[in-house]
Amino acid sequence: MQADLNFPFPQGPATGELVPVCPGVQWLRMPLPFSLNHINLWVLDDGDGCAIVDTGIHDDTTRGAWQSILDQHLGGRPVTRVLATHCHPDHIGAAGWLCEHWQAPFWITQGEWMQANLGQARNGGVSQEAMAAHFKRLGLPSSRIRRMTRMQGYFQRMVGPLPTAYERLVGADTLTIGGREWQVLIGRGHSPEHACFYCEELNLLIGGDQVLPNITPTIGVTAEEPNGNPLGLFLHSLDAFYALPPDCLVLPAHELPYRQLHFRVTQLKLHHEERCDLLLRACGEPMVATEAAQAMFSHRNLSGFDIMLALGETLAHLHLLMRQGAVERFTDPDGVYRYRTT
Ligand SMILES: [Zn+2]
Repeated sequence: MQADLNFPFPQGPATGELVPVCPGVQWLRMPLPFSLNHINLWVLDDGDGCAIVDTGIHDDTTRGAWQSILDQHLGGRPVTRVLATHCHPDHIGAAGWLCEHWQAPFWITQGEWMQANLGQARNGGVSQEAMAAHFKRLGLPSSRIRRMTRMQGYFQRMVGPLPTAYERLVGADTLTIGGREWQVLIGRGHSPEHACFYCEELNLLIGGDQVLPNITPTIGVTAEEPNGNPLGLFLHSLDAFYALPPDCLVLPAHELPYRQLHFRVTQLKLHHEERCDLLLRACGEPMVATEAAQAMFSHRNLSGFDIMLALGETLAHLHLLMRQGAVERFTDPDGVYRYRTT
């Protein structure tokens, strides 16, 4: 295994600019209103038109940038289809708008399609009651829980009306786009059924959020599935990526394209192993989830939305350890969970 990743492109495209990656594949970026301030999107030649992979959020900036890219750089060629890696707002926010404008079909896995529809129908997919009960069990004070339930609705703010129907992407299926074959690989844990696309002819993987080069994708337990094991699913689904050539070029949804996929997959696995070890040491003394989160994110002052993400991540590691028999959970008389190393 060769050490460390290499990055053939020193920097990403500016908003509204297209950068060729290889024949028939172009790279663009859309801005995001988060600390992670951009998303990478991909345009693939598809006969007389082009296929788009992921869309950016649904706001004026993104729609304006798409308009100028389609008019100026793609010479008014039609969008033949919109493909989504997964249902998060930065990936599918503008999908409905693009599909409607071009009368183009929307390709997504069934799991992501369902989750996107839940997100739009139900404040991100979960009721306020379920959310309040979940965070109470984790030891969060009720004043904080009230503030948290008020933060709901972010999905609708960044996602426009969804496409009216979808074409199903299925793991291991092969799609032909512009005469080239792309194999669908499924990642889990970050989202329900995350599609990645591998083209053997180009030795290229569109990786979405599954295999990012520096940051690790959020793997979190949510109120919707409070006893879920997303980290177990994520780590298991990563194994499939060892079957791809180690020197393939990975096009991630954030940061820069890179090579050394196998090395990165191993790094991701080790990262989570280290996080589990940290929790195992911390839970020598029984603790509630908020304390465990503080131990895991001790370098950060957690507030607002970060608390929710940190708790989700912490639970993901605790639940994996519980399934391995390394941690047990018991319930206080007041209904709050405590976790301890066995
Ligand atoms: Zn995502």
